[in-house]
Amino acid sequence: MSAYDENNIFAKILKGEIPCDKVYEDENVLAFKDIAPQAPVHILVIPKGQYISIMDFGVKASPEEIKGFFEVVNKIVEEQGLKNEGFRSIANTGLNGGQEVPHFHLHILGGRQIGPMVSQ
Ligand code: AMP
Repeated sequence: MSAYDENNIFAKILKGEIPCDKVYEDENVLAFKDIAPQAPVHILVIPKGQYISIMDFGVKASPEEIKGFFEVVNKIVEEQGLKNEGFRSIANTGLNGGQEVPHFHLHILGGRQIGPMVSQ
Protein backbone atom coordinates (compact mmCIF):
# COMPACT_ATOMS: atom_id res chain seq x y z
CA MET A 1 0.00 0.00 0.00
CA SER A 2 1.30 3.46 -0.85
CA ALA A 3 2.13 6.11 1.75
CA TYR A 4 -0.53 8.40 3.15
CA ASP A 5 -0.89 11.59 1.07
CA GLU A 6 -0.76 14.42 3.60
CA ASN A 7 -2.25 16.83 1.08
CA ASN A 8 -5.41 14.91 0.25
CA ILE A 9 -8.56 16.99 0.55
CA PHE A 10 -9.70 15.48 3.85
CA ALA A 11 -6.23 16.01 5.34
CA LYS A 12 -6.61 19.66 4.37
CA ILE A 13 -10.02 19.79 6.06
CA LEU A 14 -8.49 18.27 9.22
CA LYS A 15 -5.67 20.85 9.15
CA GLY A 16 -8.26 23.63 8.83
CA GLU A 17 -6.98 24.67 5.40
CA ILE A 18 -10.36 23.98 3.76
CA PRO A 19 -13.76 24.52 5.42
CA CYS A 20 -16.34 21.82 5.87
CA ASP A 21 -19.98 21.69 6.93
CA LYS A 22 -19.27 19.98 10.25
CA VAL A 23 -21.89 17.86 11.99
CA TYR A 24 -19.70 16.30 14.70
CA GLU A 25 -16.16 16.49 16.05
CA ASP A 26 -14.24 14.95 18.91
CA GLU A 27 -10.61 14.11 19.63
CA ASN A 28 -10.43 11.29 17.09
CA VAL A 29 -13.34 11.72 14.68
CA LEU A 30 -14.76 14.38 12.35
CA ALA A 31 -18.07 14.15 10.47
CA PHE A 32 -19.24 16.60 7.83
CA LYS A 33 -21.75 16.89 4.99
CA ASP A 34 -20.67 15.59 1.59
CA ILE A 35 -20.15 18.51 -0.79
CA ALA A 36 -22.09 16.69 -3.54
CA PRO A 37 -24.90 14.92 -1.64
CA GLN A 38 -26.40 11.84 -3.25
CA ALA A 39 -29.33 11.65 -0.82
CA PRO A 40 -31.21 14.00 1.55
CA VAL A 41 -28.74 12.97 4.25
CA HIS A 42 -25.17 12.36 3.04
CA ILE A 43 -22.53 12.60 5.73
CA LEU A 44 -18.90 11.53 5.71
CA VAL A 45 -17.37 10.21 8.93
CA ILE A 46 -13.58 10.24 9.07
CA PRO A 47 -10.98 9.32 11.68
CA LYS A 48 -8.49 12.09 12.43
CA GLY A 49 -5.59 9.65 12.18
CA GLN A 50 -3.81 9.15 8.87
CA TYR A 51 -5.54 6.02 7.56
CA ILE A 52 -5.83 5.56 3.81
CA SER A 53 -8.64 3.03 3.71
CA ILE A 54 -11.02 0.93 5.78
CA MET A 55 -8.39 -1.83 5.72
CA ASP A 56 -5.67 0.53 6.91
CA PHE A 57 -7.98 1.78 9.68
CA GLY A 58 -8.96 -1.73 10.76
CA VAL A 59 -5.36 -2.89 11.04
CA LYS A 60 -3.55 0.22 12.32
CA ALA A 61 -6.06 2.10 14.48
CA SER A 62 -6.29 1.39 18.20
CA PRO A 63 -9.33 -0.45 19.60
CA GLU A 64 -10.38 2.85 21.22
CA GLU A 65 -10.25 4.69 17.87
CA ILE A 66 -12.25 1.95 16.14
CA LYS A 67 -14.88 1.75 18.87
CA GLY A 68 -15.09 5.55 19.07
CA PHE A 69 -15.50 5.79 15.31
CA PHE A 70 -18.51 3.47 15.27
CA GLU A 71 -20.01 5.15 18.31
CA VAL A 72 -19.97 8.37 16.31
CA VAL A 73 -21.65 6.57 13.40
CA ASN A 74 -24.41 5.49 15.82
CA LYS A 75 -24.74 9.01 17.20
CA ILE A 76 -25.08 10.53 13.73
CA VAL A 77 -27.62 7.92 12.64
CA GLU A 78 -29.74 8.75 15.68
CA GLU A 79 -29.31 12.52 15.42
CA GLN A 80 -30.16 12.54 11.72
CA GLY A 81 -33.30 10.47 12.33
CA LEU A 82 -32.11 7.53 10.25
CA LYS A 83 -32.48 4.78 12.85
CA ASN A 84 -36.05 3.69 12.11
CA GLU A 85 -36.11 3.98 8.32
CA GLY A 86 -32.54 2.79 7.81
CA PHE A 87 -29.59 4.07 5.84
CA ARG A 88 -26.66 2.91 3.75
CA SER A 89 -23.03 3.12 4.76
CA ILE A 90 -20.32 2.86 2.12
CA ALA A 91 -16.54 2.72 2.33
CA ASN A 92 -15.23 2.92 -1.22
CA THR A 93 -11.75 1.41 -1.32
CA GLY A 94 -9.04 1.69 -3.95
CA LEU A 95 -9.33 1.83 -7.72
CA ASN A 96 -12.08 -0.73 -8.26
CA GLY A 97 -13.99 0.62 -5.28
CA GLY A 98 -14.00 4.09 -6.82
CA GLN A 99 -12.28 5.75 -3.87
CA GLU A 100 -11.51 9.35 -4.81
CA VAL A 101 -10.08 10.62 -1.54
CA PRO A 102 -7.29 8.51 -0.01
CA HIS A 103 -8.27 9.13 3.61
CA PHE A 104 -10.66 6.55 5.07
CA HIS A 105 -14.22 7.83 5.15
CA LEU A 106 -17.56 6.19 5.72
CA HIS A 107 -20.45 7.58 3.70
CA ILE A 108 -23.79 7.61 5.53
CA LEU A 109 -26.70 7.99 3.15
CA GLY A 110 -30.36 8.23 4.10
CA GLY A 111 -33.58 10.17 4.03
CA ARG A 112 -34.96 8.18 1.09
CA GLN A 113 -34.67 4.65 -0.30
CA ILE A 114 -31.13 4.53 -1.60
CA GLY A 115 -31.87 2.07 -4.41
CA PRO A 116 -29.96 -0.92 -5.73
CA MET A 117 -26.70 -1.66 -4.01
CA VAL A 118 -24.74 -1.55 -7.26
CA SER A 119 -25.87 0.01 -10.53
CA GLN A 120 -24.61 -1.11 -14.00
P1 AMP B 1 -15.06 8.52 -2.39
O1 AMP B 1 -15.35 8.42 -3.86
O2 AMP B 1 -15.65 7.41 -1.60
O3 AMP B 1 -13.59 8.73 -2.14
O4 AMP B 1 -15.85 9.79 -1.89
C1 AMP B 1 -15.28 11.07 -1.76
C2 AMP B 1 -16.43 11.98 -1.41
O5 AMP B 1 -15.90 13.18 -0.91
C3 AMP B 1 -17.34 12.34 -2.59
O6 AMP B 1 -18.68 11.93 -2.29
C4 AMP B 1 -17.20 13.87 -2.69
O7 AMP B 1 -18.42 14.51 -3.04
C5 AMP B 1 -16.75 14.23 -1.29
N1 AMP B 1 -15.98 15.46 -1.18
C6 AMP B 1 -14.92 15.84 -1.93
N2 AMP B 1 -14.45 17.02 -1.51
C7 AMP B 1 -15.20 17.39 -0.45
C8 AMP B 1 -15.21 18.51 0.43
N3 AMP B 1 -14.34 19.51 0.30
N4 AMP B 1 -16.15 18.55 1.40
C9 AMP B 1 -17.05 17.55 1.54
N5 AMP B 1 -17.08 16.47 0.75
C10 AMP B 1 -16.18 16.38 -0.24
